[in-house]
Amino acid sequence: MLVYKFGGTSVGSVVNMNHVKEIIGTNGKKIVVLSAMSGTTNALVEISDLIKENKTELAQKQIKALNEVYKKTAYDLVQDKVLYQEVIQYVNYIFTALLETVSQPHSDLIHNSILANGELLSTFMFSRLLQQDGVKVALLPALEFMRIDRGNEPDNFYIKQNLERLMQDTSDADVYITQGFICLDADGNITNLQRGGSDYTATIIGAAIEADEVQIWTDIDGFHNNDPRFVNDTRALSHLSYDEAAELAYFGAKILHPQTVMPVMTLDIPLRLKNTMDSNAHGTLITNKVHGEGIKAIAAKDNITAIKIKSVRMLLAHGFLKKVFEIFERYQTSIDMITTSEIAVSLTIDNILHLTTIKEELEQFATVEIDEYMSIVCLVGNHIIYHPDTPQLFQVLQDVNVRMIAYGGSNNNISLLVNTSDKLETLQKLQRYVFEDGIVAI
Ligand code: ASP
Ligand code: MG
Repeated sequence: MLVYKFGGTSVGSVVNMNHVKEIIGTNGKKIVVLSAMSGTTNALVEISDLIKENKTELAQKQIKALNEVYKKTAYDLVQDKVLYQEVIQYVNYIFTALLETVSQPHSDLIHNSILANGELLSTFMFSRLLQQDGVKVALLPALEFMRIDRGNEPDNFYIKQNLERLMQDTSDADVYITQGFICLDADGNITNLQRGGSDYTATIIGAAIEADEVQIWTDIDGFHNNDPRFVNDTRALSHLSYDEAAELAYFGAKILHPQTVMPVMTLDIPLRLKNTMDSNAHGTLITNKVHGEGIKAIAAKDNITAIKIKSVRMLLAHGFLKKVFEIFERYQTSIDMITTSEIAVSLTIDNILHLTTIKEELEQFATVEIDEYMSIVCLVGNHIIYHPDTPQLFQVLQDVNVRMIAYGGSNNNISLLVNTSDKLETLQKLQRYVFEDGIVAI
């Protein structure tokens, strides 16, 4: 069975939803995971923030404005009278409940419940659009099978059991539709898989049902060899290995939620990225196969903090790194990049929630310097560190101030740490040195 996931733009208008309907076609059973219509989750975050700040009238005004958008979409989307009535009743039900939350005390749970409405609305509407064409549809409520555990990892056993049960209960359906992003936590409260999490939903489901393939449909024709928001003339990559895609997603390529690759990687389920707006474009196929060698793609991740930790006891202080890492572990702060010298270690983090305490603890035995507003520029490609053309990238060192380099940590990643203010220039220069001046990328 195939699992399809369509992002916010793909379901962001009546025209696009009809397009999605064509893409999934009518032959064979499939699961379709949907995001909220584009702009909706952002609007819901804003509404929740207004409620939190007790800006009641403004919150009500924004809820009503969003309600109007959905009434109009429902009207344009579904012509069948009975199905239209069902959609409009559902829209009313969601927005009435949303208006009620304005007068309730705000909490994280209320926040997450507000955010869940986007996916609930898009999936309900899309299910009725398909029913209008006579398609046998079952709406699988994500909140009845998608759950994370106390470590925020998918609770795979629970997910598989419950998903299978729900699918068996509706076994005559051809198209199963479900909400991306939303799930329950270990206590049964509504939460989500973080922004952009619908991609992750799709691969978690793909793994649970051992799908033949998971397809993520967005508004771009796959992973590009550099960030198209900052660099001209980037091009789509037709093939990536799971490792390459995971590194790119983690280090900033915005096209995929960073954890998406993990669930399908261990089961060797192909993951395909496709463009809803250009369904004939090849897209990117991600499998365990390795295509080509050398630098294939460049991505950048912002909001990085660099920490330089210098041992006060100077040379040969064994056990120093152990003490350092234990502190980061205690505060559940993961380290992205690391370089060391005899007396100092520099590392980077992106979660600064516990930075003050971590710094205080490190200062018990080391001097600590902190640099904010840094970006990691990550170069990915199979056997990148051995490739004869790779040294070309170091031309960038003549022009940009590189704070740290991680080379050799894995065979297919080289990372550079630069000031965020130098990121644009770094990406553009690398594009020139690496892709335009010779290195052959696949
Ligand atoms: N709707 C959610 C978001 O905007 C999840 C997703 O689109 O993947 O973050
Ligand atoms: Mg997305």
